[in-house]
Parts: sequence; structure tokens; C-alpha cells
Amino acid sequence: MSDRRSAGSDQRGSRAQHAARREVDVSLSADRSALLFVGASQVVTCAGPARARRGAELRDAGVQPPGTAVAVEGGRIAAVGPEAELAARWPDAPRVDCGGRLLMPGLVDSHTHAIFGRPRFEEQELRAMGLPYMEIARRGGGIHSSVRDLRARDEDELVALALPRLQRIASYGTTTVEVKSGYGLTVDDELKTLRVIRRLQALLPLRLVPTWLGAHEVPQEYQTRGDAGRAEYLRLLVHEMLPAVAGEGLARFADVFCEPGVYTVAESRVLLEAAREAGLGLKLHADELQTSGAAELAVDLGAASADHLAAVSEAGVRALAAGGTVATLLPGTMLFLGSARQAPARALIDAGAPVALASDFNPGTSPTVNFPLVLTLAVSQLRLTAAEAVVAGTVNGAAALSLAGEVGQLAPGFSADLALFDVEDVRELPYWYGDRLCRGTWVAGVACHPVEDERPLLPPQPPTR
Ligand SMILES: [Zn+2]
Repeated sequence: MSDRRSAGSDQRGSRAQHAARREVDVSLSADRSALLFVGASQVVTCAGPARARRGAELRDAGVQPPGTAVAVEGGRIAAVGPEAELAARWPDAPRVDCGGRLLMPGLVDSHTHAIFGRPRFEEQELRAMGLPYMEIARRGGGIHSSVRDLRARDEDELVALALPRLQRIASYGTTTVEVKSGYGLTVDDELKTLRVIRRLQALLPLRLVPTWLGAHEVPQEYQTRGDAGRAEYLRLLVHEMLPAVAGEGLARFADVFCEPGVYTVAESRVLLEAAREAGLGLKLHADELQTSGAAELAVDLGAASADHLAAVSEAGVRALAAGGTVATLLPGTMLFLGSARQAPARALIDAGAPVALASDFNPGTSPTVNFPLVLTLAVSQLRLTAAEAVVAGTVNGAAALSLAGEVGQLAPGFSADLALFDVEDVRELPYWYGDRLCRGTWVAGVACHPVEDERPLLPPQPPTR
């Protein structure tokens, strides 16, 4: 598997490879025994090259006919093929009866802020009443309230809060979750957050990918001291926080909130270049609300992904189409904020950019654990086909985490990360919007979210006379 693993990390560049200190291990302990998945209505493999898909490639989700089975061995996909053939090859393997449901790769949520304290539900009404974000912040809300809240909690409390949230994420069919820090904004509180993610990884079979987002905002105590305070926090990020995070091997990626009024393109470049030097992969919150050229910066730096992009320019679209950076779209955020604007997904795909989808699960602007709802929004709001949405939520999400050689498809050699949905056709996934139709997930062949013994509808009975 070493060739697949290296294929998944090629976006990080040889310099980063050289500088890498301690690679964060996101591989999981695998079940060594064999398992045979049979009786699916459709097996959706998303099989193909171990890299982000573009253009017409996105329209092929690899839908297999009824009678297709999936064999798992040692935590990896061993074969996908006709049931009789696989049953003959693995006569003694325990069967998972899919019961006429749809089997596909587990969803890959490549952008969340899942470690936070209290939810910020009061802000939704305030926004609905037309209160601007700055006024909400002046009243003590916004990101700064999440920062105050997280700083006041210890690791145990944060683990206890995040654990059921991540279990709920798994219950909707997600098997890989990127989780960012970014509500600590001090050396100790950012390390605390990242250690919480590491502890959660040991508690959950879900695959977690930790990202350091010390540059989520400039903390209030530095903002009040103007330019000097801002410069001081930037020095803290580069010279104290980043070395501490990298030295402890707590993060796989670094991310920056690049947006006018938060971090400039020039500041983001300095931070991300330092992170790359420290051996971290790169991600960027780019062009969410205002056009700034952040997408172009992400491509220029060889970032794994540029995320949001609701305000990306035409030049940004061209850069993403020409480069190797995944364009990660978060339609749930714009929906929840009540925005009529969405990222130009069709223009990005038609130009040839690799598009991924993610939930942006966070307490301020996207408090949803429901990835299939993101697929619904991708079709209804972003104008993707169901197949494009599924590939964007699996293979391309994996590529946005430099894991395209490891997860995101049901093909021999890939990790056995699967999700079972109570639908018969892949187009039903975005159709039954808001419903929780996932009946089981497996990560590296280990049951993560249990199969529930429930069928929502009994098959129609013949009338008795
Ligand atoms: Zn975000």
C-alpha cells in the first residue's frame, strides 16, 4: 500500500516531505478478518484514479448492477464483483446482508470545526432580524464568544461535548472527518483542542484528520492593540504556536481564514509558507464573502484545498482549473446564513476544477451533522448531478485531505470505509432531503455506526380476499 499512500500525499511537495517531522497517523487499526457485503440494490464504487476527479470524470459514480458484492479483507477492499464469484473465493467469510439497500464509500467531510463548547443558536434569530455580524459581535457573540467559551473548558469537557457530535456525523454516513482547531487562539488552547482531536481518534472508529487553524481570527486581546497587537499575534503563530503544534505531531494540515478584515492574502502567504516549512499540508478559507484572490494564493502554494469560494473571481476559477488544489464548496453555510449567493460550482466544474463538498460543521454558520443534506444542496443549489455530488463528497473530499490513495472509493487496496443507505438508487441520496437514511458505516472494515434493525416501510402486501 505504500505506493497508494505516497500518491495521496504528492500535493504536499518534496520540500514539505523533507521537512516533515512526525507524520500524523490517520490509519486505523483494521479488522484482519474477511467480510462479504451481499444483497445490495446498487453498489456505488466511485472507482477510478486515486486523485481528484474533474469535468466529465465527476459524472461517473461507478454504479454497479444488482448482484454485485464487495469483499473486505484485513481492513481493505479485496474485490468488487459478481456475488457468486466472490462467494466462491471467500466461502467462509461472514456475510453482511445489505437487504436491498445502497452500498457506497463512506462520505468524506473535509471541512469541519467540530471542537467547540456551547452552540450559538441565539445568533440565528438575530441574523433573521437583520442584525449585522459586527453588531452581534459587539453584543458578545460571533467567533469571539466561541473562543471565550472554549478557553474556559478543559480537555475532558471538550471530549465529552465532541464525542456525541462526531457519533451523529457518523450516523449520517460519514467515515472520514477533518476537524480544525481555531477557537483557542492561544498556544495552550490550540494545543488543548488538537489533543482533544487526538483523544477522540482513540475513542472512535471514525477516521479524523486534524487541522491547525490558529489563524481563524485575530483574538480580541490583540485586536484592541491595533496594528502592533496584530503583528504580535502573527509572530506568536509563526514562532511559538506552529513549532509547538508541529513538534507534537498534532496536525496534518494548517489552515488560515483569508478574508478581508480577518487575514490578508499577504499574511496568509507568510503563515502557510511557514506551515509548509514545518511539514504540514495546506488548506485555506478562501473568497467566502468577498473576493480577495485567496483561491489564486491556494493554488500558487500548492494547497490541498481552497474552501468556500462563494465570492471567487473568474481568475480564481481559472487558477483552480489549471492547478492541483481542490475547490471545496460548503453550500450548507450559505443556506444557513440566509444568503442567496452560492459558489459558482457549475463554472468551476465546467472549467475543469476538481470540486469537493463538505459540511463546514461549526456552531456559528453551519451547525449540521448531516452530510447527505449537503448532497441535496449540491444538486438543488449548486446544480450538480447526483453522481457529481457523490464523487465530490467521496473521492474529491479524500483528495482535499491528501487521502485520495487511501479512502473515497470501493476498489481493491483502498481502506474498507463503507456506508449503507436505505435507498435503492444513487439519485435518492440527495432526493430524500433531511432524512437520516444511513443504516451502517464501516471504517477499515470495522463497524463504526451500527446497522440498525429497522426498515421504514414494509414491502406492499398482496390484498387478501
Ligand atoms: Zn470553516
